[in-house]
Amino acid sequence: MTDNAAATPRALRTAIAIIGRRNAGKSSLINALTGQEVAIVSAERGTTTDAVAKPYELLPLGPVTIFDTAGLDDEGDLGEQRIKATKKVLFRSDVVVLTVSEEGLGDFEKETIAEVQKLNIPLVIAFNKSDVCSISLKDEDFCKAKNIPFVAVSAKNNEQIDELKKLIIDVVPEDIKKEPLLAGDLFEAGDIILLVVPIDLSAPKGRLILPQVQVLREVLDRRAKAIAVKESELSSMLAELKQKPALVITDSQVVMKVDKEVPIDVPMTTFSILFARNKGDIKEMYSGAKKIDQLQDGDKILIAEACAHHVLEDDIGKVKIPNWLKKYTGKELIFEFCQGGDFPEDLEKYALVIHCGACMLNRREMMHRIKECVGRGVSITNYGVAISKTQGVLERAIKPLKIS
Ligand code: SF4
Repeated sequence: MTDNAAATPRALRTAIAIIGRRNAGKSSLINALTGQEVAIVSAERGTTTDAVAKPYELLPLGPVTIFDTAGLDDEGDLGEQRIKATKKVLFRSDVVVLTVSEEGLGDFEKETIAEVQKLNIPLVIAFNKSDVCSISLKDEDFCKAKNIPFVAVSAKNNEQIDELKKLIIDVVPEDIKKEPLLAGDLFEAGDIILLVVPIDLSAPKGRLILPQVQVLREVLDRRAKAIAVKESELSSMLAELKQKPALVITDSQVVMKVDKEVPIDVPMTTFSILFARNKGDIKEMYSGAKKIDQLQDGDKILIAEACAHHVLEDDIGKVKIPNWLKKYTGKELIFEFCQGGDFPEDLEKYALVIHCGACMLNRREMMHRIKECVGRGVSITNYGVAISKTQGVLERAIKPLKIS
């Protein structure tokens, strides 16, 4: 692991899940891949309970998180919980490595393969323990017929581990290798990008939040020029500038004020809208926001946050968004809330899901949540898009993204 691997937020790292039966050698394989002792290795079946996440720099791909998971063939009540936890890891995985023991591919592995393929996650098979067995012709034929890259490795003797790394890198989808941009495709070198960053109670102490830092980095990478102001300094900064900004990017919470002060011929959007595009499916989020106009008295709205945090007096999810929605629609709405990794299974009862910016989730996990909603006929949008909608500025704020 390099400093870079640990410093990159987990949501920006490629997620690799190592799955397989208990004692197929998953933990030893991670140790071999990372060159470190990161997981509990034991000859006893089922040593790994919850998924263990290990940051690692997989060159030339870049920072990854490798998840060591519980055996998918675990038994008993505790086993069921472990399997559930492992399946949750699958939803956020960009690549799955199925580790197979000397027993070869059985019904269990084939069912697992079918499940991973149903989720459309790239898969590599590592036939482990090549020091004591070799791949059967039958298993080789199966992999070839299913077009699944495979390799025989010995985690114990560190054999063919580089070959496995190559296969993993090969199957990583291009859109992940390319790192989708937040805003970098919306301006040119030399442009001025004006960032509006309120520093209120909800701002983290002493630092900027991830989307703001990422946009700043993209501006620097493209040799454009970034100016950051609080909303109170926006008007005076606009008056001082000799060159019009190519883009104004604002925090959603002050979007109405920014909309009024930024001349209409200057493109304007929000960090949340950019993040929604980067993390998931902005078209779906935009279309989900249209549901706000159809809400009826008694409709249930789920406000979903991907991590738990201390609730502030004017909390954006718990207080501000519900108030803005009630005011905009004039309806009696019922709000329910979820936080962290749990996304409710009974989604159908909601008329609309409003998701947070998902800075702690990777793209695959957010896409999974979007697909779950859409698949069950439930509209989904996110904080930024919903706020712009309720403030009457969504059409302007979405325009720079050219999605319609
Ligand atoms: S994951 Fe969601 S709730 Fe957590 S900090 Fe990011 S935007 Fe906020």
